[in-house]
Amino acid sequence: MEPVDRIVIVGAGQAGSWAAQTLRKQGHGGRITLIGSEAHPPYERPPLSKQVLKGEAEPPSAWLTTPQKLAELKVEFLSGRTAVALDRGAREVELQDGARIGYDRLLLTTGARPRRLNLPGESDAPVFYLRDIADSLALRERLAAGRHLLVIGGGLIGLEVAACARARGCSVTVIEAADRLMARVVGPDMSAHFAQLHRAGGVEILTGKMPERFERTASGCRLICRDGTGRDGDLAVVGIGVIPNAELAAAAGLKVDNGLWVDEFCRTEDPCIWAAGDVTNHAHPLLGRRIRLETWQNAQNQAIAAARNTVGEPQPYADVPWGWSDQLGVNLQLLGMPGAFDQAVTRGDPVGGAFTLFYLEGDRIAGVNAVNAPKDIAVARRLMAGNIAVDPQKLRDAATPLRSLLA
Ligand SMILES: Cc1cc2nc3c(=O)[nH]c(=O)nc-3n(C[C@H](O)[C@H](O)[C@H](O)COP(=O)(O)OP(=O)(O)OC[C@H]3O[C@@H](n4cnc5c(N)ncnc54)[C@H](O)[C@@H]3O)c2cc1C
Repeated sequence: MEPVDRIVIVGAGQAGSWAAQTLRKQGHGGRITLIGSEAHPPYERPPLSKQVLKGEAEPPSAWLTTPQKLAELKVEFLSGRTAVALDRGAREVELQDGARIGYDRLLLTTGARPRRLNLPGESDAPVFYLRDIADSLALRERLAAGRHLLVIGGGLIGLEVAACARARGCSVTVIEAADRLMARVVGPDMSAHFAQLHRAGGVEILTGKMPERFERTASGCRLICRDGTGRDGDLAVVGIGVIPNAELAAAAGLKVDNGLWVDEFCRTEDPCIWAAGDVTNHAHPLLGRRIRLETWQNAQNQAIAAARNTVGEPQPYADVPWGWSDQLGVNLQLLGMPGAFDQAVTRGDPVGGAFTLFYLEGDRIAGVNAVNAPKDIAVARRLMAGNIAVDPQKLRDAATPLRSLLA
């Protein structure tokens, strides 16, 4: 293989930042250029729907690094610059301002953006989305005590926003199109548990409601649903999923289908281009299928793997998918991506507020939802990574240490 000098990373979020730093740690002595549209240093997004939104922390607490540290690592950081085209033949990235940057290796870490509702009346109404620092601060400023917030989408982000709004003294209605909360990531029992938790915390939860249009009102907006029912609010927040920022790759002819396709080594079909983070749809060796993740762990660890593979002997990226959410003082952790499962086994006491649901396919754990039970997650991760058979009775029995199942 020809020598690698210049590595260009497009997208200076969590994945891009980890990739740049990993390349240096791996001993890459050539040039590294990190290009990001945002004006901030690379940062982590989870606090934007938690501590920052609540007002307990400020955005710099989420920074992953600083321009100074990147300069010390001799990473050329082009912030506030957007890549608009890839010329794979010439191996160049074209920026919005016309600059062209050549590369030997290219890493795409362009992330994702919120999916828009685009409902009639939406543009005249105070409707917010949450992805970046500016979104979080704009929303926080408006979450004043006594205001009523409409949250459209009862997924992880929507429910975290609902919890923050309650903490700031707002009243909240969550409007979800599916018949249960967080349906994409947890099982029905867990959805019911969180619906009860939010209701007990003063949140109105409406499920099975398909939003149809907004109307501007004197104090804010009214959301009308397809069944004719509606709710008034001072403002609305929409959290209905994300769309991978894969247009750059698609326009350059790379395969994009529900994300930019990479293999288990984070390689695209172009031998000079790798990708990581929310933008990817990757082949997962443990699960034996393609997945697209929108998680902190994936943004970090897939980027580390991609960076290593860019300059070293390729190693597969095979983390058991993991994510978490904090709502109303409750910690939810999610492991695996269970499809159809054979049985759900409960360990612990839902009434007591700490319990774990294991979803089994045969005698293997396919997924785990844990409430205030991080230690269960740690052991379950090892059981899943090792594809270890488990006895449901022992899983259920809180007196049997989970670790004993590793034997
Ligand atoms: C509010 C919020 C809360 C979250 N909470 C959790 C949580 O509790 N737990 C969890 O596991 N995960 C959470 N996540 C998900 C997690 O933050 C994401 O999975 C992670 O940020 C993905 O990192 P990324 O680097 O792939 O993409 P991003 O963070 O989206 O970064 C991509 C960057 O690339 C830039 N970019 C895009 N296109 C271009 C271009 N053409 N040129 C230059 N730059 C470009 C973007 O502006 C962006 O800065 C949360 C996400 C959000 C939004």
